[in-house]
Amino acid sequence: MSVTNIHEDPDALIRSDDPEHPANLICELCRDFYKLGWVTGTGGGISIRHGDHVYLAPSGVQKERIHPSHIFVLPFQQTAVPKPGSKRDFLRIPSQKGLKESACTPLFWNAFTMRDARACIHTHSQHAVMLTLLHPADAQGNATFRISHQEMIKGIRIGGTGKTLSYLDTLEIPIIENTPDEEDLTEGMSRAMERYPDAGAVLVRRHGVYVWGGSWEQAKTQAECLDYLFEIAVKMRLAGMPLVGGDAAA
Ligand SMILES: [Zn+2]
Repeated sequence: MSVTNIHEDPDALIRSDDPEHPANLICELCRDFYKLGWVTGTGGGISIRHGDHVYLAPSGVQKERIHPSHIFVLPFQQTAVPKPGSKRDFLRIPSQKGLKESACTPLFWNAFTMRDARACIHTHSQHAVMLTLLHPADAQGNATFRISHQEMIKGIRIGGTGKTLSYLDTLEIPIIENTPDEEDLTEGMSRAMERYPDAGAVLVRRHGVYVWGGSWEQAKTQAECLDYLFEIAVKMRLAGMPLVGGDAAA
């Protein structure tokens, strides 16, 4: 990180030749996620917490065209934890007019504060969306995705930031209902995280998924493993195969 005084030169927060600097990484990862169909049409994205700073992409922009100069930087320690519509403290705001911080900001904060995550990824992957459509809510309004006997389960961490699961574990991810405004998912997501302390992600019906990790690498690899599991689970369900129990359930 630069030793420049960020109060005199806030752009020092996003200026670096290091490709792994969060401002550079967010741009590169958003381009990669765009190619996977995870963040098309301006939806989805990633936030990285680096030390005391949180790096955020703007809301409603083409995610494959983000430049480091578009990145917002916030102190992790906020006057008040970000909630829908709440006022936020910033260390750097892009000079380009019309940019607003990601609508996912309070949702990313759920992962940072409740799981001590260092990165949170939000995708609108069709695999995630289709999976939620195949898991209707029960009479109490709850829905959970469960799958076992899949090698890729080993890539998922307990709570997203703990130890990795074993091949013998059953993966459980809660599904919450969508809201017309993205920010209004904040409470549903935090309730699901309290109810499922071991879950490393939260699915949102007809919308996508939030995945986090103890580092950006962990968040990225877990998002990849989960997307793989969502895709194969959809195919298994459509083929009439049970998701839990392996051969014993067949
Ligand atoms: Zn979204």
